[in-house]
Formats: sequence, structure tokens, C-alpha cells
Amino acid sequence: DFALEKSIKEQREYLPVFAVRQSMLNVIRDNNVVIIVGETGSGKTTQLTQYLYESGYGDHGTIGCTQPRRVAAMSVAARVAEEMGVPLGNECGYAIRFEDKTSDKTVIKYMTDGILLRECLSDPDLDHYSVIIMDEAHERSVNTDVLFGLLREVVARRSDLKLIVTSATMDAEKFADFFGGNTPVFRIPGRTFKVDTFHRNAPVEDYVDEAIKQAIQIHLGAVDGDILIFMPGQEDIEVTSALITEKLNGLDSAPPLAVLPIYSQLPSEKQSKIFQRAPGGIRKCIVATNIAETSLTVDGIFFVIDPGFCKMKVFNSKVGMDALQVYPISQASANQRSGRAGRTGPGQCFRLYTTRQFKDEMLVTTVPEIQRTNLANVVLLLKSLQVDDLLKFHFMDPPPQENMMNSMYTLWTLGALDNAGNLTDMGRQMADFPLDPSLSKMLIVAAEMGCSEEILSIVSMLSVPSIFIRPKGREEEADSRKEKFQVSESDHLSLLNVYNEWKKKKYSSRWCKDNFIQAKAMTRAREVRGQLQEIMESNKLALVSSGTDWDIVRKCICSAYFPNATRLKGIGEYVSLRTGIPCFLHPTSSLFGMGYTPDYVVYHELIMTTKEYMQCVTAVEGVWLAELGPMFYSLKEQALTFNERMRETVRANESMEDQLR
Ligand code: ADP
Ligand code: MG
Repeated sequence: DFALEKSIKEQREYLPVFAVRQSMLNVIRDNNVVIIVGETGSGKTTQLTQYLYESGYGDHGTIGCTQPRRVAAMSVAARVAEEMGVPLGNECGYAIRFEDKTSDKTVIKYMTDGILLRECLSDPDLDHYSVIIMDEAHERSVNTDVLFGLLREVVARRSDLKLIVTSATMDAEKFADFFGGNTPVFRIPGRTFKVDTFHRNAPVEDYVDEAIKQAIQIHLGAVDGDILIFMPGQEDIEVTSALITEKLNGLDSAPPLAVLPIYSQLPSEKQSKIFQRAPGGIRKCIVATNIAETSLTVDGIFFVIDPGFCKMKVFNSKVGMDALQVYPISQASANQRSGRAGRTGPGQCFRLYTTRQFKDEMLVTTVPEIQRTNLANVVLLLKSLQVDDLLKFHFMDPPPQENMMNSMYTLWTLGALDNAGNLTDMGRQMADFPLDPSLSKMLIVAAEMGCSEEILSIVSMLSVPSIFIRPKGREEEADSRKEKFQVSESDHLSLLNVYNEWKKKKYSSRWCKDNFIQAKAMTRAREVRGQLQEIMESNKLALVSSGTDWDIVRKCICSAYFPNATRLKGIGEYVSLRTGIPCFLHPTSSLFGMGYTPDYVVYHELIMTTKEYMQCVTAVEGVWLAELGPMFYSLKEQALTFNERMRETVRANESMEDQLR
């Protein structure tokens, strides 16, 4: 294992990008915008920032590098700090939502694209950066696409700024064209090995089962090399990991295997395990989400198992909102995944789908997120940046007008936009919070209603991963502890209850452990709460507690979530007031199976599995919804006029353009 024998310096110099270090730096010196293309693992993410730092680009500003994924930002920053021999957060740090690991010393800053986007709000020219690297641009997250449009203007204004766009493979010419015909594309010569790809002869019924069988078969074969299995999401990863271990334990003769899951909600100390050599040098089997497709490169993978699915956020017109669902990957993704097996030597990729499925059921490339999701947050942000005519914003691939309208409609119902589509005072305040619009709204309304202390705790609890633990073999004990916290009419209040009890116990982690609650997540919620409180204070929003009056808290929840209101239809079954579709109480809800069936509930989100389940629910009064009156019941009529108005604007703009042509 060369990672063990070679020094960090040797490892760095072994990467393909090292061979072209100087010529690449020359191109960057001579151009303001450069597109850099290189195979995954060539060293773009970890080396480029350091080369620029070593060449003095850090002397008069920060070298910023954006990542579409939080895990990647954290993990890469840690690696670079290690390579530089400095503690993480000093010269090299990272920033993700609610977590800033940078300091005055920081010269290399990794961050999510969302963070840089928000920085544009307070510093539209991004003056403290000398270089911005938009890494993993091929991922085309909504935030990346909006940054593309904004940074195109920033480089036009700032001749001292270097903008570097990196991509794993495709799209280089498209990116170059976007920034103007003379933008150079620099290609890092790759070092990849042949990968044999095997398809199934017939479609498989259960990809988890098949992946497990395939992994065990590879493992029991004699050949060395680590295995990488792609899975769409956390649940599948957990099941797959557990079953592989279980099955191998049942085989006396099986050699040991280190099964290592990786997904975004996994604690970071577990995430770094995928890069380390397994104890005793045994074979590793990494079970990963899409994150391992291009964001994180693990050396030593010889076998890839690809079920051909990933989770994607897509606007679902039936439920009228974005839904995270499992979809077939694109052909481009499939080829990227195969490539992961050929980094260290010739490898094999086992596709759990047929060649026909590859050809007929997979798109050539993935549809950019901006064309398939609700853009309410983006609209709010652009409006705050005084981009008034969104239809004129320079998108690389403009979102469908219908998407834009839906997003503006969402904002309008929340009171963030006026009838003419301009930002209201409420909207301006909402944009200050790094939250979904309805949560921002809830905080602002809470200040008026006199329950902002409570809502702060609730919103913070909603911003961290699930806090309840159910350890194997102790499920009943865990469930009965959880029941103690449950407030029968509201999951939001149950969360508040947990937070308040924890605070009473002086934020004790011992208390968390005794109550089957994730201490880390609670600590995180407390940090988030502190940050949101600061934003409240800087917006002069009152911090007040409603004391024991929790009805007012529910009323406040109602006033922000009213678009998600549903009416009782049968036991555990509701029907959406907005779309008319049936929605069900989730079994984890405190309202589930309590024999208590309020006429109206609002929900935090809808998750779609076999049915539409409402996740995190609060009972509300019909009169509260009526009070929101024009905001809700006559909303449909108003919405018509609003949409009509928007359409007219579009038409007017179009005919104007026609006339100009
Ligand atoms: P690229 O961005 O071109 O895909 P990277 O810079 O991410 O390439 O990876 C270069 C090398 O650094 C790879 O060999 C990868 O395994 C290694 N590497 C990246 N992150 C870590 C980490 N957290 N720990 C150990 N090695 C890492
Ligand atoms: Mg990279």
C-alpha cells in the first residue's frame, strides 16, 4: 500500500496534476478565467489550492474553493491541512452552513457553493478573494449555476480576480463558451487503467440483494483490491453494510472484510475512515452515495458495483413541491462510476442493469438541478442582490419559466414578494437567514407573536439530523423514552420539549445518552440556535418567550407552514388543502396512533415512499387557517392573477426582444 509507505510529499508528486504544475500556473497567470479538466483523482481539488498558495496568490487575498457537497468540503480541507502540516482551521479551513472552521490566518478556504453564494449578499464583488475555484462544476448544483451567472459579472468588474472552473470530464467547452470564446481549457493528462464493465442479462428485482451477493462473490474470490458499492441513500447503505457483515459472519471460511459506509449525515470521524488502510490491511468494502462518484476519490478501488440509481431532488407537480426520490442515473454518471475502479490498476465494474436499460432508460447526461427543482431560495437571493428581472439573468441553462413562476408563487404566498413580484420588507429579512423560506418566515413571525425563543429552538432542531436513536436490541426501551417527550398535538413541540429538557439538565451529554438522544446532534442544534439568534438580533427581531403558552407557538407554526395544511379524512389520513392529494401521518409522528385526530394539521415535509407521508406534523385550528384568510382561502384566485401578471411580464419582455431583433 503506497499510501502507507510514501511520504506526503511523494504522494503529492505522484498525482497527475503535479506533472503539469508549472504550465497550468502559467495559463492561470495569463488568463482571468480558466477551465481545468482532469479525471477524478488527478489532484484538482487538493493540489490546485496549494499550488496557488505556494505561488503567492494567498498574499493579497483568500483562495476560495467551492464544493457542491458539505462532506467533500470538510474532508478535502482536512486532507489539505494535513498535507500542509497545519491544524485544520488555521491556514487551511472550511465553511459549511452553520459551521465555520476558518480563522484570520486562513488563506485556503474550502466551502460549499451555498456559502459563497450567501457571501455575495454582503460582498457582491467578493473583494477578499484573490482566487475562486468553482470545483466539481460538472455537478451543476443550483448554487453552482447561480454562481456561474454572478461570477461572470464579478470577473468582468474585477481584473485582479482569478476564476478557475474545474470539471471531471464533460462540459468543458460549454463552460468556456459561457465565459467568452477566449477562455482557455486546460487539460490534465490522465492516468487511468482499463476497466472491464459487466452488465446483467436481465433486469434485477432488488438491487440491494444483488449488490450484496456481488460483493460477497468478489470478496470470496482470490483477487486483491477494495470494493466500492454505490447506493442511492443512507437507508440502503445501512442495510447493505449490515447485511454484508451479517452474511460473512455466517460463513466460517470467509476472510475478514472492513465494510465502511459513507453518506452526508455520517459523523465526520467515521467519514475519514474510508481513506485509511483497514486494520491488518484487510480488504475494504466502501458503501457510498453519489459522493464517491467524483467528489471523493478513494485509492485502491479495483471493483465497483453500480445498481444504477441515485437520489435526486425533483419538483413534483402532483404534490406541488420538491421531492427527494430515487431515479436512474445518467449514462455519464454510469461511466464515471466505472472509472472509479481503474485508478490504481486495471479494474472491474459490475453494473446491476442490462445494456438495454443503459441505452433506453438512462439519459445521456443528468438534467441540471436548476431545471428540476423549486427555486424559491434562489429567487429570494437574486432579488436581494437586486437582480429584478430574473428572466434576464444569465443562466448557463435557464430554468423553465414554470419553475420560476412556481418559486415566485411560493414566495408570494409567504409574503416575501408583493403583487408586482418585488421583494417586500419581510422578504428582505427572510433572505438574511440561511434557511428555507418557510422557516425564515416562522422566525420573523415569532418575534411579533411573542414566541421567538421557542421557535428558535424548534427551527434549530429541524436543521440537524434526526436526534432520536434506536439501538439494536433496545428498540422498545428507546421508544418508551421517546414517548415521554412527545406532545400529543405536535412533533414540533415534541422537539421543543426535548431541547428544553436538555437545557434544564445543563446541556448534559449523559442525559442524552440515558434518553436515547444523539448528543452530537443536540450540541449542533445549540450552535445553530446561537447563530440564528445573532441574525435575529441584527435584524432587531425581538427575542421573547411565550412561557407555558404553547398554543401561540402552534399558531406561529401554522402561519409559516399554512401552504402545507391538510384536512382530516380518515384515521391517520389527511388531504392536502392545496393540491387535494391524500397525505398520511408518519408512524414516527407523536400524532400517530394516539387516537387523537385533529381536523387540521400542517407538516414540515412530505416524504414519498409507498405513500405520501407527512414528516413532522402539528395540529392547527381551522380558525387560524381562516384568519390567514386572504392568504389562504382566496389564495387560489389571487394566485391566478399573480401568475397571469407574471405571464404578461414574460410576454411583454419577449415581444420587446422581438421588436429589437
Ligand atoms: P480530484 O479533485 O482531481 O478528483 P483529489 O485532489 O480529490 O482529486 O484527490 C487527489 C488524491 O488525494 C487522491 O489520491 C485521493 O485519494 C487523495 N485524498 C483526497 N482526500 C483525501 C483524504 N481526506 N484523505 C486521504 N487522501 C485523500
Ligand atoms: Mg475533486
